[in-house]
Amino acid sequence: MGARMLDGTAVGLAIRNELRPAVDAFTARAGRPPGLGIVLTGSDPGSELYVGSKLKSAAQSGLRADLTRLPATARLADVFAAVDALNASDVHDAILVQSPLPAALGGDAERQVVDRIAVDKDVDGFHPMNVGRLVQGRPTLAACTPSGVIELLDRYQIPMAGRHAVVIGRSDIVGKPMALLLLHRHATVTICHSRTVDLPAVCRQADILVAAIGRPVFVTPAFVKPGATVIDVGTSKVDDRELIASLFPVGSKRRLAFEKHGALTLGDVHPAVAEVAGAMTPVPGGVGPLTIAMLLRNTLTAAEHRLAARC
Ligand code: NAP
Repeated sequence: MGARMLDGTAVGLAIRNELRPAVDAFTARAGRPPGLGIVLTGSDPGSELYVGSKLKSAAQSGLRADLTRLPATARLADVFAAVDALNASDVHDAILVQSPLPAALGGDAERQVVDRIAVDKDVDGFHPMNVGRLVQGRPTLAACTPSGVIELLDRYQIPMAGRHAVVIGRSDIVGKPMALLLLHRHATVTICHSRTVDLPAVCRQADILVAAIGRPVFVTPAFVKPGATVIDVGTSKVDDRELIASLFPVGSKRRLAFEKHGALTLGDVHPAVAEVAGAMTPVPGGVGPLTIAMLLRNTLTAAEHRLAARC
């Protein structure tokens, strides 16, 4: 039997529709909409795409969203200046600096830039102060992608309390906050990474398996306990014709999309996992739309907190 597909597009849309009345109420109260400022440095095609859909979704939900563009040759001081301007802005409640930053800015650039963002405008929840609040189980702004996963599990009534959740990946932006959010929902959490010994065996213990690795179709049925819920956070652009041919039969929707575009976005989870899992998220249409919905929700939360702090 095939796994039930958890529809992130539908859930993301539902969240965005639910936000609308609260956004309108904020706008009426504050005399302006909640505002999101995005800083994009360089012209990475993936980033351009992500930023475009964030701007579009924000506008559709009644939020103000402004883009500060910096050239790929920008210095760290230029990125700091863009963040400082948004920190000082009255009409921007939330700030997002799109990653990746150009490699020329140095390996520590993203951390330095996040540290520079005003804590109450840190919409991604990456600032050390917001991470600390998350660790203590009292987050105001929690990382968007992991928050979206929790929202998806909740809306599909997949219980977390007492369940064994295994998270593959320990990044600051996905793996760690994901593990903490699951822990706060009373799951028993195991975090795996590239040094984990016998990864498939550890993953097979999971009632909820979250893959946040960035390696296409890495998680095969051998990683999955029958009936488990599998959440695929990974997104990798793949142009390997042989791999695509091995995954999707001629004439299938995904194969046709590959023929049209010359590449496909694949998740970390192999499609054959659908034969073992009880439920799983597709890529695309799984976690991605939820990340955007949570970004909009965090923008509203940040705006409401800033307004309340002034009253
Ligand atoms: P990252 O910083 O590169 O972290 C990847 C993690 O995977 C690391 O902790 C790494 O372990 C682990 N890993 C790599 N190879 C492994 C292996 N062979 N076995 C076990 N663990 C392994 O990536 P990220 O920023 O967390 O993103 C992960 C994926 O999620 C990417 O594909 C990214 O594009 C995607 N993503 C999607 C969304 C969305 O909205 N859908 C949002 C954010 C990210 P070590 O720590 O030991 O190196």
